[in-house]
Amino acid sequence: MVLTPIGIVRSPIADRHAMPTFGVPARVEIFPEFAEGLRHLEKHTHVWILAWLHEADRTRLLVTPRGVSDKSEVGLHGVFAVRSPTRPNPIAMTAARIERIEGTCLYLDRLDLVDGTPVVDVKPYFRSRDAIYAARNEQIGRPANRQALLESLLLQAENFHGERCGGLVFGARLVEHFRSTFLDFAEAWGTQVILPEDAGCVIDAVMVLVGATPGRGTLGFHGAPFVRFIRNDRVYNYVLLEPGRRWPSWTALLADEVLALPEEELFRASSTLIRVK
Ligand SMILES: [Zn+2]
Repeated sequence: MVLTPIGIVRSPIADRHAMPTFGVPARVEIFPEFAEGLRHLEKHTHVWILAWLHEADRTRLLVTPRGVSDKSEVGLHGVFAVRSPTRPNPIAMTAARIERIEGTCLYLDRLDLVDGTPVVDVKPYFRSRDAIYAARNEQIGRPANRQALLESLLLQAENFHGERCGGLVFGARLVEHFRSTFLDFAEAWGTQVILPEDAGCVIDAVMVLVGATPGRGTLGFHGAPFVRFIRNDRVYNYVLLEPGRRWPSWTALLADEVLALPEEELFRASSTLIRVK
């Protein structure tokens, strides 16, 4: 089996230890002899970039992934159960949005591959078969901190909603607070959610981050300005605050404004035990 690189990553980051988890804007330069293979790529907004991680360790089958604090045998995961570069065939795959195509250069919104990484394939991202909304992941490791969790949630919400607006950031901050404060950072799958019916983009964020849908009976609506999470024997109530503004004017705020506001000005959270029959 012989792999031929078809291009190379051009990124401002050359040191893999300096690469942010979700990557940075970068471009892929396809080599001229493969230029014809790009014809009609503009029919797709997103692509899979497959790359060869030439510096990776190819000898180990067990690793302790990033974020797993237990460094003993317990924290070891098989390389096929994680996305670590360590694996027999160190192929990386990253989905990215195409900002623009110039000649044989693909400008991408984010890529977690360092400068000079050989690219072995480009494929269109198909929402019909690549986006599996029902998929669930048990957390591999704990987020390093609340900020890391928020960044991950913002990315997921934006991938669903299509843009990072004020309402979306508000919804992501709600779920981040819920998971870090009440669930000890665990995933929130299975939580029942009740949302204000006029909350637009907030609804998109919360439903996708919690995996709640009307069809599963886990997503409901009401007319009041609070969000309610119901899980096991507890109700978590979030009163949405309105500093000089009336709900749902949150959705009119810019993403950066909602990111900058202190939590105490966004919502007030409490939890109560409920009787379970
Ligand atoms: Zn929006």
